[in-house]
Amino acid sequence: MKVAVIGAGASGMMAAISAARAGARVTCLERNEKAGKKLYATGNGRCNFSNLSMDSKDFHVGDWYYTDGPELLEKAFDRFGVKEVCRFFQECGMLYADRDGYLYPYSGQAATVVLTLERELAQVKVTLVTGARVIAVELCPDGRFELMLENGKSALFDRVIFACGGKAAPVFGSDGNGYALVQKLGHHANAVRPSLCAIRCKETFIFKKLSGVRARARVRLLSPEGVVTQDIGELQLTDYGISGIPTFQISHCAGALLAQNRTPSIEIDFLPDFTLEALEELLSPARTEKATYQDLFGGMVHRKVLDCILTQCGLGFGNVADRAAIKKVLHSLKALRVTAVSLNDFSQAQVTAGGVALSEITENFESRLVPGVYLCGELLNVDGKCGGYNLQWAWSSGWLAGSACAGRSLI
Ligand SMILES: Cc1cc2nc3c(=O)[nH]c(=O)nc-3n(C[C@H](O)[C@H](O)[C@H](O)COP(=O)(O)OP(=O)(O)OC[C@H]3O[C@@H](n4cnc5c(N)ncnc54)[C@H](O)[C@@H]3O)c2cc1C
Repeated sequence: MKVAVIGAGASGMMAAISAARAGARVTCLERNEKAGKKLYATGNGRCNFSNLSMDSKDFHVGDWYYTDGPELLEKAFDRFGVKEVCRFFQECGMLYADRDGYLYPYSGQAATVVLTLERELAQVKVTLVTGARVIAVELCPDGRFELMLENGKSALFDRVIFACGGKAAPVFGSDGNGYALVQKLGHHANAVRPSLCAIRCKETFIFKKLSGVRARARVRLLSPEGVVTQDIGELQLTDYGISGIPTFQISHCAGALLAQNRTPSIEIDFLPDFTLEALEELLSPARTEKATYQDLFGGMVHRKVLDCILTQCGLGFGNVADRAAIKKVLHSLKALRVTAVSLNDFSQAQVTAGGVALSEITENFESRLVPGVYLCGELLNVDGKCGGYNLQWAWSSGWLAGSACAGRSLI
């Protein structure tokens, strides 16, 4: 059986390996000059390739993934989940390290993951063709598929796996062209949005002051109905808004609200490990008498944060503090309210929210519309939070699509 895999990213390389191990003659076509270009950039060059939390009984797909088919994800992770991914990489000679559940190659280098996959592709005799951009896939009358390449060449295959990624970070090759390819075969890609990205806010006068600050904080995304989602971690402040992991974790929901033309608020708590009551007690009248705001708050938060909050409250560092104003400053430090106006675009996003609906594929990742076509990875309507969840989805869906496509389960 001749199988074509379109895309040599995380899901495509995994699909190619599993299809080849299951006995198919596999050709993997990659438009870039090398395979796994995006993988090199993952996890800040260290590649957070999965997360052990997914193995816990308390793990719920809905807490970590946004998708129209959570049941399909649950089944996929049951069949080829974290354990299987770890075993796969270890058997291919890659050691890995567990950092509080976040899994990385032991080398600390994302390149190790790519080299491991490339070696395995060669080992199982996958033909990897780089510089090969697929521009059309047509179903022939005999049930085979003709793939047309940008360079004018074409070839026939019995089955095709689409692993072309979504639209995020197009510099790595995933520019959304995969949606057009599968749409020509009858599939639908719902509206896609950037996710795991920075959020632009209205109050630029605040952010100009805070730009460059990295501080532990809790961010809460609020709609008129209440708290939509929240996260805590190292917040990065830029001159246009907020970034960093906690921002990324709330960005999917912020994007969803913005897409409905709503303008969500974001509440930033710069002292997330302390309750307001504990802080008020700390700043008891006895301690605060004749103290300046610098004396009271200078040891608590980044100077730029304090400067910004004091300005907001109409106060100065050197002013002698009064009780009512102390409360006001504390409240602002615990709940600085800003307004989200947009997300950064796809060029600055790590993943794509939306994609081909899971209702259009079987649990073996085969198209319900065109038998013989398989889809996996970010092309599908699945996006996870930061922490290795997106790559785990790429490995799981790629592996299962590959083995099902070759007609033999390898689990
Ligand atoms: C900066 C950054 C950091 C990230 N860090 C992490 C992390 O640490 N952990 C994590 O879990 N996730 C991380 N992600 C997300 C993760 O990398 C992706 O979700 C994952 O790579 C998606 O895999 P994929 O195979 O579906 O798509 P991709 O990895 O995007 O691969 C798709 C491939 O298809 C090729 N292609 C596209 N169209 C064609 C065509 N027509 N013909 C031929 N080839 C084509 C592309 O060139 C590309 O190589 C990060 C993303 C970014 C951008």
